Amino acid sequence: MNKTALITGASRGIGAAIARKFGSCGYNLAICCHNSIDKLQSLAGELHNLYGVEVLCFQGDVGDYAFAQEMVQKTLAHFGHISVLINNAGISHIGLLGDMSIEEWNNIVSTNLTSVFSFSKLVIPGMVEAKSGRIIQISSVWGNVGASCEVAYSACKGGINSFTKALGKELAPSGIAVNAIACGVIDTDMNKCFDEDERRELADEIPAGRFATADEAADMAYSVATAPAYLTGQIITFDGGWI
Ligand code: NAP
Repeated sequence: MNKTALITGASRGIGAAIARKFGSCGYNLAICCHNSIDKLQSLAGELHNLYGVEVLCFQGDVGDYAFAQEMVQKTLAHFGHISVLINNAGISHIGLLGDMSIEEWNNIVSTNLTSVFSFSKLVIPGMVEAKSGRIIQISSVWGNVGASCEVAYSACKGGINSFTKALGKELAPSGIAVNAIACGVIDTDMNKCFDEDERRELADEIPAGRFATADEAADMAYSVATAPAYLTGQIITFDGGWI
């Protein structure tokens, strides 16, 4: 049976790199995006041509439970199983908490945190039946320590970290591992708000002396996905020694 990975937010950045990594390792894929459907479909074509894997594309809002249901149901109907779920889709919000509207708060919570609940809940029955599976969240160091002017983002990632520890305990008896990767600075669109001087200053703060590439984060996700299931409930910090 071919392995199948469902990756949220795979049109760009870390999610696209994770799709490339899993595709290159022979996984069939279900991938989604919110707006960049052309990029997503072009990635799907690239991976099919390079590695002969099947790639299903979906467009919608991961914060919408009905979209998560549709994506998981269609993936299961097509491939029969999901071996790995990567909860990657996320957005940032930079600004003082006092300036944040309730609509902005609800949007970041549904995109970054509720999506992790929805996709995890929906893949669990199949994984429990198979007595195997891997759930990996792409979290952030701000979920470990909190960041000024990123309170909502930090709260979501902190929530993801606790969710991971708790669900890891709940699913270990079923042979399913649940882990999170708390990323430092990865060179993607999410950091395009920084100008050249700010990028240099930030890189200087990181003992490794640079941002990580999305490919390095993808290699990390693949390592966690292929580790023994005894590795579970962990928040693995991937930050070049930064925090
Ligand atoms: P990115 O380059 O901005 O890409 C975000 C991806 O998520 C895109 O594919 C985007 O789709 C998708 N997405 C966003 N909102 C969505 C929604 N509501 N529904 C469906 N898809 C949605 O971000 P990235 O840097 O790769 O970040 C990926 C993950 O890593 C996020 O969870 C982020 O918090 C985490 N992370 C990143 C860093 C970093 O330094 N980059 C550090 C720590 C943690 P569209 O293209 O359609 O918008």
